[in-house]
Amino acid sequence: RVLMGTKVSEGHVNYVTAYNMLTGIRVSVSRCNGKVDRPLNDEDFVAKNKLAFDVSGNELTPSARYDFKFKDYAPWVFRHLRELFKLDPADYLMSLTSKYIVSELGSPGKSGSFFYFSRDYRFIIKTIHHSEHKMLRKILKDYYNHVKNNPNTLISQFYGLHRVKLPFGRKIHFIVMNNLFPPHRDIHRTYDLKGSTQGRRLQPQDSKKAVVYKDLNWIDAGESIMLGPTKKRQFLDQLEIDVALLKRLNIMDYSLLIGIHDLTKGNTENIRDNTLQVFEPGSATISQTKVNELRKALTTASPTALAQLDLVLNQYERNDFIFYADSGGFRATNENNEPLNDIYYLGIIDCLTPYTFTKRVETFFKGLSNAHVTISAIPALEYGDRFFKFIKSVVVSKREGQQNVIGEETA
Ligand code: ATP
Ligand code: CA
Ligand code: CA
Repeated sequence: RVLMGTKVSEGHVNYVTAYNMLTGIRVSVSRCNGKVDRPLNDEDFVAKNKLAFDVSGNELTPSARYDFKFKDYAPWVFRHLRELFKLDPADYLMSLTSKYIVSELGSPGKSGSFFYFSRDYRFIIKTIHHSEHKMLRKILKDYYNHVKNNPNTLISQFYGLHRVKLPFGRKIHFIVMNNLFPPHRDIHRTYDLKGSTQGRRLQPQDSKKAVVYKDLNWIDAGESIMLGPTKKRQFLDQLEIDVALLKRLNIMDYSLLIGIHDLTKGNTENIRDNTLQVFEPGSATISQTKVNELRKALTTASPTALAQLDLVLNQYERNDFIFYADSGGFRATNENNEPLNDIYYLGIIDCLTPYTFTKRVETFFKGLSNAHVTISAIPALEYGDRFFKFIKSVVVSKREGQQNVIGEETA
């Protein structure tokens, strides 16, 4: 039940698309990275570079296996964003293009977007609707400034905005962003929270493989985000700042995606073994047990190899970021700020939907189905307030009822 996806190798229906996306990224990103760094200017935010690939190649673009056109949007801005997000440029290209194998999650949402993982599972490529593409271009400056002023933002980290077009084909817009979930730990429960109740319960038959629960499941299960005073303040302060931006930009329909790793459960060996089949051996997707075994063996045999192993694993720690610092996530704490057994992997996702677009779609569906059904197409301000209020209400420093068990507090 892990969100791993199926391998996109030759013969897969989306192989050509994935190949073109990765080839385009490789060529355009390495071209921009190859230049001497310089400060951003206003034009950088609206810039777009076109590349035409064909089987024979020319002096500007190397030959590719297929004919296609590629557009890179605001390359300099994304170069600077990747730097703010502390990505190593060589690493980024390696992850996305070292081999043309990515895995596809298919289309988990209702939107029809496709998701691909980089082969090391660190990055996600998501195809987006044209309205989302326009939104990101419109807000790019605000987003950039927000990231600059809020290095710990919970909003999705965007690393690139691109488009591919096949001859006579559709234009496919896509973004590259961070995968919130780690390659080296099982996620035991996953929730996509919006703070709304309308249709927010996943029924058992709703899903077969990857189970992503919703608000009402969260409430049914009596879940909470356990954070002591220090982490609670860090988290809610950042969330409030992030939501304020989304409200101001008239964005809605985003969620807090939260994956919970329970350290007492650890990793399931056979899930990891499947993972190894999906991903090439040599990628960092290996089990914690295997890592520990390796570490032990290397301590005496080869200290340099041990250092290398730690270097690779550190890519997932991301110690520079508060919410991704505990093994890639944010560890639960108790009322004394002491660590608990859950690690939260969380962030605000799907945050490029303009209010007008949601409204149009929902009005359309409303017209088709039952007119009496009340549908929550509420403006961005209300959406943001409701979202923040809900998340705030589920962050607790002490579990309900625990005080009675311990008996240190009276009602
Ligand atoms: P819809 O508009 O119907 O909600 P969508 O196609 O826009 O769907 P998202 O809401 O962005 O898709 O994501 C769908 C699911 O994909 C999420 O619930 C989550 O399981 C997974 N997902 C999305 N973004 C990330 C991410 N950054 N890291 C890990 N998983 C993600
Ligand atoms: Ca969504
Ligand atoms: Ca969406």
